[in-house]
Amino acid sequence: MLQRKTVEIAQDTWLISEFNLVNSFLLVGSDRCLLIDCGLGLGNLLEDIRKITEKPVQAVLTHGHFDHIGGSALFETIALHPSDHAQFKRWYQELIETELLNQYIRTRLPVRDPQADPEELIGLPRNFGEYHLSVCEDGTVFSLGNREIETIHTPGHTQGSLCFLDSQNKILFSGDMCNEESLLLNFPDSASVKTYHESMQKIWQRSAEFEVLAPGHSPLKVFAKQLIQDYIRASAELVSGSVALESGQNTMHSGYKYQSGNILIWYDPAKLQ
Ligand SMILES: [Zn+2]
Ligand SMILES: [Zn+2]
Repeated sequence: MLQRKTVEIAQDTWLISEFNLVNSFLLVGSDRCLLIDCGLGLGNLLEDIRKITEKPVQAVLTHGHFDHIGGSALFETIALHPSDHAQFKRWYQELIETELLNQYIRTRLPVRDPQADPEELIGLPRNFGEYHLSVCEDGTVFSLGNREIETIHTPGHTQGSLCFLDSQNKILFSGDMCNEESLLLNFPDSASVKTYHESMQKIWQRSAEFEVLAPGHSPLKVFAKQLIQDYIRASAELVSGSVALESGQNTMHSGYKYQSGNILIWYDPAKLQ
């Protein structure tokens, strides 16, 4: 039987990897716990959470893309920035009705876990159903009893992208704003590169309060916060307008791309400013 891998990245703070495709994070407090993102919806995430804690779960999303929202129906409510509510509804419907999920597994898994068999994941049960959206905005604080988690609105990857700050454990949960693999700013509902740049600067102003990044996609580990500086530099270069246009394609993405050192950004040249 396939199992999600879990790693305790700090005390009472778990990275739950949905088969190396996408991460969720479970932050357990003395009264309740916070779940950040709920993956593609393969298998039953809530059953895996119950192996870690029996406490009530408040679920929140870094953004409305389909690879982070799949388990939404398993939770009482699912909180998300209002700017991403419309696309949540659209993506959720596509997740249920189309081949989108199977395509994602077939294209991403060979990159993120070359040993694994995509067909085995495609065969897992899915728990899509009725969901209840609620609002989470800049400054929303989740009180878990003995710890508090603060929401920071960081438009960029999507207009409603959120980061979550655990200043007690010095971790920033950054969703798809700061992955190691690449940054996507080329969705119809992505913000401009300039807005992304400003969001990363806003995050960096708080950098005394965290040491590591816990991103939406990565192997079972966190990253040094300096990755933010690399993205600030690369996005500034793009915004300056001095970068030559280059189109490209790999197994996962296509369009205009900018490679600067270790940073790869996919973007829309019409949305630099
Ligand atoms: Zn995304
Ligand atoms: Zn994602």
